[in-house]
Amino acid sequence: MKAVRIHKFHEPPVIDEVAEPKITGPLDVIVKIGGAGVCRTDLHIIEGQWDSRMGTPLPYILGHENAGWVHEVGSAVTNVAVGDTVILHPTPTDGLCHACRAGDDMHCENSTFPGLSTDGGMAEYLLTSARACVKLDPKTQPKDVAALADAGITAYHAVRKALPLLYPGTTAVVIGAGGLGHIGVQCLAALSATNIIVVDRNPEALKLAEQLGADHTVVADGRHVDAVKDLTNGKGAHVVLDFVAEQGAEMDGWNMTGAAGSYYVIGYGGTLTVPTLDIISTERNVIGNIVGTYNELAELMALAEAGKVTLHTRTYPLTAAPDALADLDAGRVRGRAILVPE
Ligand code: ZN
Ligand code: ZN
Repeated sequence: MKAVRIHKFHEPPVIDEVAEPKITGPLDVIVKIGGAGVCRTDLHIIEGQWDSRMGTPLPYILGHENAGWVHEVGSAVTNVAVGDTVILHPTPTDGLCHACRAGDDMHCENSTFPGLSTDGGMAEYLLTSARACVKLDPKTQPKDVAALADAGITAYHAVRKALPLLYPGTTAVVIGAGGLGHIGVQCLAALSATNIIVVDRNPEALKLAEQLGADHTVVADGRHVDAVKDLTNGKGAHVVLDFVAEQGAEMDGWNMTGAAGSYYVIGYGGTLTVPTLDIISTERNVIGNIVGTYNELAELMALAEAGKVTLHTRTYPLTAAPDALADLDAGRVRGRAILVPE
């Protein structure tokens, strides 16, 4: 089968002909990929940022935002059958550890992360497990929803965590209205009555954010921290959801957060340098976010099937993965780039 593999850091991935994955365990599931999202994390993987965490031997197949149709199942799989339309939680988990039993899939003690720690879904077929499969309405087109598997669940997870803080009369700032941010805006609009301010460099991304539920938009032009202060009577926001968190956005996000407010780090790559005096005197919180739980993905799919969250996508053939990554890197993708095997 065709697959998009990283061979060397700092070099574009290569389209290779590789063997199809095989069922080896009773709970294995092989999915025929219908869509694989292209993510900023793929750029960060290529930059070598994840190497120290994962140490995954090269070459391997990228792609951690996957949806498709069940192609083959192991002998003990009962929750899905061949032909089912599925979206995949990014981490196949053991279901047995403390974190799994608490529903906290991302902190499973025995999980894999296809696309980061093992072969991912930028290919014709992907090996996953029964526990990672969320069964969808058969009318759903995998390419329309694939990016909800990571971009979507990550945005939803952060918004859902912040919900108790977002009572009516509060303000939430969304930094970055790209792949994750444009989903975050829709989740905020669907689940809360908070006042939504969206900050982005790109006026077109802000136009999209307005259509999706932003109450105010602010161009990130160097005066944006002041602009957010002006929109919040000089106080700053109750919640800042930072979908960028690099290239200076992280300090802007912290500085837009009001007293007793919470700064949610969702994007990454930058460094936050904050005097501890500022943390205690203002009682501001910094909150980390990594993907989300299986149940959150299932909830998000219910929102999507109700038409309350729509992914804006641009599709590319699987073999055009290097172009899709270059377009993402250059800021030429509105919403999300999706690879579709021919
Ligand atoms: Zn991703
Ligand atoms: Zn576990």
